[in-house]
Amino acid sequence: MIRIENVTKSYSGTAVVDAITTTIPAGGVTSIIGPNGAGKSTLLSLISRLLPMDSGTVSIAGLDIGRTPSKDLAKSMAILRQENHITMRLRVRDLVGFGRFPHSGGHPTTEDKAHIEAAMAQLDLGALADRFLDELSGGQRQRAYIAMVLAQDTDYLLLDEPLNNLDMKHSVEMMRLIRRLADDLGKTVVIVIHDINFASCYSDTILAMREGALVHQGPPAQIMRIEVLRDVYDIDIRIEEIDGNRIGVYFA
Ligand code: ADP
Ligand code: MG
Repeated sequence: MIRIENVTKSYSGTAVVDAITTTIPAGGVTSIIGPNGAGKSTLLSLISRLLPMDSGTVSIAGLDIGRTPSKDLAKSMAILRQENHITMRLRVRDLVGFGRFPHSGGHPTTEDKAHIEAAMAQLDLGALADRFLDELSGGQRQRAYIAMVLAQDTDYLLLDEPLNNLDMKHSVEMMRLIRRLADDLGKTVVIVIHDINFASCYSDTILAMREGALVHQGPPAQIMRIEVLRDVYDIDIRIEEIDGNRIGVYFA
């Protein structure tokens, strides 16, 4: 479980994450939705300690992130950032190998290497393993970064817009993989996602943010409602039920 208590982060006097208190259950898939600038990435960065919070506490599986050594935290939680800027000229296999660093300390064992190869296989990167990152398409690069996060083999995965740059086929594959990580391996996966319909079909819990606040939290059936989504996005999104899933129609 992730416990978030009274977490606040401000920039120049404006709270972009404003006294959020909630819990994210262990196991399953939790999606964070909300308009641009709502504070989703900031919240994820605070949970993963990429950013220092102004006040509040976060614990992950009982570890207070403010008191846990980085090495221990890195064995229980991995994060994919929304933007990744690695300037080094790296091959895919080496990038994915970075994910093993908390375990290998830079000296990968046979087991570490097996994790690296397995993560690349899960993201269908076998044929690209020896390519340099700057020789990949945006979507291929996104898959390489996700493989790096998977190679870390943590119980908790925080993924900020994992579908960035992915086409429809790879988006569906990514969401299925996320579901399998939760269902088959018992991982807790928290994603930031813009497509409310993927959130609806693949998550157990949805958190909706707006202007730094957590405005709604619940299962898809509770969040995928015209009045709730109006509250979050300021537009009317018609909801249709298709194959037991609630789908928002907002194209016209
Ligand atoms: P989201 O991921 O929901 O689109 P972010 O968490 O990235 O939103 O940003 C929330 C708000 O905080 C935005 O208004 C953004 O402009 C602001 N913000 C983010 N990072 C900084 C920063 N380093 N300095 C100042 N403002 C920032
Ligand atoms: Mg963001």
